[in-house]
Amino acid sequence: MQYLEKLLDQFSDIPRNIILKADILRRGIKLNDDIRKAGATSNTTGISSKLESFIGSSSPPPSQFHFKADETTVDIKADERSPYEIREDGEGRYHIFCGEENFGEVQFIKRPSYMDKKTSDGKPCDYLIIQRGPSCICVSPLDFCAYFKKGESCKYCICSLGLDLGVQMKLIKPIPDNNILAEAIAIACEDGVDLKELKLSGGALYNVHKEANYIKRCLDAIFDRIDPPEEVTIFSQALEKDDQKELKDIGATNVCFDLEVWDEQLWPELLPGKAKTIGRQEWIKRLEDAVEVFGRGHVGTNFVGGFECAPRPGFLSQDEALKSYTEGFEYLIKRGIVPWFTIWTAYPLVGNFQVDDPPPTEFYLRLAQPIHELLEKYGVYPDLGFPRMGVDPPTLGLYCYYCYSMQFTRDYPRLIERE
Ligand code: SF4
Repeated sequence: MQYLEKLLDQFSDIPRNIILKADILRRGIKLNDDIRKAGATSNTTGISSKLESFIGSSSPPPSQFHFKADETTVDIKADERSPYEIREDGEGRYHIFCGEENFGEVQFIKRPSYMDKKTSDGKPCDYLIIQRGPSCICVSPLDFCAYFKKGESCKYCICSLGLDLGVQMKLIKPIPDNNILAEAIAIACEDGVDLKELKLSGGALYNVHKEANYIKRCLDAIFDRIDPPEEVTIFSQALEKDDQKELKDIGATNVCFDLEVWDEQLWPELLPGKAKTIGRQEWIKRLEDAVEVFGRGHVGTNFVGGFECAPRPGFLSQDEALKSYTEGFEYLIKRGIVPWFTIWTAYPLVGNFQVDDPPPTEFYLRLAQPIHELLEKYGVYPDLGFPRMGVDPPTLGLYCYYCYSMQFTRDYPRLIERE
């Protein structure tokens, strides 16, 4: 509680729920019986929590919660050391506590009924579909990262390990059957999902053109079953411009090619597979190509915030990292590319990092400030659906606040100047 008070004092011009969200993402949530019970009826919203629910023997906690007051959406990462807990009040309402102080009522998204319906191969839809917001669905055209087997995974990545485990246990197929995926989406739509955005995310190949072809085939199969929704977002490695154009012709409207790390020296060390396959310069060039293809406000890139200043020889200090990221953010935003970052959390950690290696919340709040200021300076917020500060954008596209609950820069334009 003392640390949170210090943050609230130090960043007094930032809305309270942004600070709380940043600190909860960084320090996690202590699990208790109340939140475990809520997991059984709540939605599975992320790839890692989906795998955890298949692989783990007990029902995982909900993967997100929402502050009832302003709908700020926060990822739930378990950490037994956390001062944060969600408790039920005996009347079915949940509240978030830091120590003994109550910070307000929170809610969970109810598990949609279609999740338990089966496709023609006999598997329930929740094997295939992830749903976060009320009107979007995420599926994976590839449940496989080729870098894992060669020991060239991104150094922070738990996902490639989880996918490999899921494939070995025959819980998922490395290349999902597109017709079955399309069938699952059709079932969800028939069950009442008013689909406005489709997201395709997952996997990576050394042959990036082949990766693009899997995505195209997947989209084609889906649009044989349903009409293309308003927005279609592709999360992949940085694709070549011709592949980007073909995807646009099929119906894609947004792309996210995650750079993950900005520092030029650390890039090949921390992202060996991506460095070998594409390289940092070419990755950035393809992001710039994507702005030409899809337009401003339709191209994004994620960073694993704080990873570059892990306490390891040859890594940056926190101040050096802040300076480097800020330069990177300006370079990208000026060119119409929207950067954001996930908080590097203590659990689960891979790559021999220690639980105390991620920087403190304060670092992340300092890291978010230049993104907000630069998006304002270069007039990008209107491209992201904000006519002015303090309003909710449509829950679609790059600034959907339901989907990106593991990041908090999207909450600045929603919560600053909110009445
Ligand atoms: S490309 Fe990197 S981040 Fe993506 S799944 Fe593979 S190892 Fe993980």
